[in-house]
Amino acid sequence: MKPFEYARAGSPSDAVRRYRPGTMYLGGGTNLVDLMRLGVAEPDRLVDVSRLPLDAIEQAGDRLRVGAAVRNTDLAADPLVRARYPMLARAVLAGASGQVRNMATVAGNLLQRTRCAYFQDVGRPCNKRRPGSGCPAIEGDHTNLAVLGASDSCVATHPSDMAVALAALDAEVHVTGPEGDRIIPMPGLHRLPGDEPERDTVLEPGDLITAVELPAPPPGASTYRKVRERASFAFALVSIAATLDVGSDGVVNDCRIALGSVAHVPWRAERAERLLIGGPATGAAFLRAAEAELEQARPLPRNAYKLPLARNLIVATLEELAP
Ligand SMILES: Cc1cc2nc3c(=O)[nH]c(=O)nc-3n(C[C@H](O)[C@H](O)[C@H](O)COP(=O)(O)OP(=O)(O)OC[C@H]3O[C@@H](n4cnc5c(N)ncnc54)[C@H](O)[C@@H]3O)c2cc1C
Ligand code: SF4
Repeated sequence: MKPFEYARAGSPSDAVRRYRPGTMYLGGGTNLVDLMRLGVAEPDRLVDVSRLPLDAIEQAGDRLRVGAAVRNTDLAADPLVRARYPMLARAVLAGASGQVRNMATVAGNLLQRTRCAYFQDVGRPCNKRRPGSGCPAIEGDHTNLAVLGASDSCVATHPSDMAVALAALDAEVHVTGPEGDRIIPMPGLHRLPGDEPERDTVLEPGDLITAVELPAPPPGASTYRKVRERASFAFALVSIAATLDVGSDGVVNDCRIALGSVAHVPWRAERAERLLIGGPATGAAFLRAAEAELEQARPLPRNAYKLPLARNLIVATLEELAP
């Protein structure tokens, strides 16, 4: 591993003040330290933000503010989160293992990098790791990579389960940085690869995530489901965070659908939502909406299996949520 300096920040503003090119913020380290061992990340300096006083979960009116340094375990176990946002607790618990969740922070989870095998192998080209070097995944192993929103430069997926639930909940990400404070809506934090796949998010150098704020929970029932190769310790092949509110007349009043592991971003299925709201909550309508959403997909030869998987997952999840 390349030698690096280490400093522990005393406050968010201290962390930002310590930032300079070559610096990376350190959360729980469960992704960043792995990437440093592999030589994928080579910071000159780590500024540890895991012990900042950003570890509270606080209710403010009908909103919930979750500090960026809250550990994934504590988020999933929090009584308010479990009662008001059970989909989020389920999503967090579907990720990684107990030991990893004990270390991993909310901000680090959002900013974890893709699990594309070429990205993690410094002996191979990869546009995300080394811009302009090529994307071997397109002709090679893209079995678990993107079917929606990919580009000729990169077909990686974002691996976070938590981010999928946050995208469905319309969460807001609070950021402080060299240029001041701002709030980034989700979806909106992560970006599609385009011709700059090295940029996972809209964050600027030195930006520090300080909190994630959740608006009042959407009406109706909600859940998170994850399809994976084994029951634990595996990233999703496809996942879904969904909410559904159906009136006594059988009409869909509100619906949110976000898909995971299908794109470079947690994919909000807006086309499906638009088709469903105001229509009947029937299996046929769920299928039409799922198919309309997936019409935009551009699968590669070895990941076309994700389309029937995503379609069936959308339909089965909405049928589970319907009264
Ligand atoms: C074996 C294994 C299995 C896993 N399985 C899953 C899974 O199924 N689902 C899933 O979702 N995840 C999974 N993960 C990933 C895990 O959730 C992430 O490693 C973890 O959430 C990262 O959080 P962290 O605090 O450790 O981040 P770190 O590793 O510390 O940092 C990650 C990134 O975030 C940046 N960062 C950290 N904090 C801030 C901040 N406040 N502001 C700005 N930048 C910041 C860092 O600079 C770095 O770029 C798995 C991990 C492992 C090791
Ligand atoms: S899909 Fe993206 S991350 Fe994977 S090799 Fe191609 S450019 Fe790199």
